[in-house]
Amino acid sequence: MNCERVRDLLSAYLDDQLSAPERQSVTTHLASCADCRGILAEYHHFDALLSQLPRISPSPTLHTKIFTSPRYLKLEFELERGLQRPQVVAEITHNQDISFAILLLLIGFSTLLLLRHQRHHKHTQ
Ligand SMILES: [Zn+2]
Repeated sequence: MNCERVRDLLSAYLDDQLSAPERQSVTTHLASCADCRGILAEYHHFDALLSQLPRISPSPTLHTKIFTSPRYLKLEFELERGLQRPQVVAEITHNQDISFAILLLLIGFSTLLLLRHQRHHKHTQ
């Protein structure tokens, strides 16, 4: 198994998602390839960093707060009455500018990660 194939499988290897023969091939390759071992170590490092991030979940009272808020009740009232385009919907439309900016940031960040990965990939071939 060559480096390129091994690197495609490293993430699955780390997550123990490979078939037994694939896993064995990757293990054999890693024993003799310092470059691929280095990449696996990076993956381990990123996994460790990610696991340190706090898990955020909404408080149990959030649901109640939202669905009993005057704003939500007004929206529900307007929708039930069949009134045209509740104000909240108009505000959400306005907020699309912000969503778009966040989306652009995410795409930029992903591209940076991808480029970094590819550069590393080329560098080690
Ligand atoms: Zn290799």
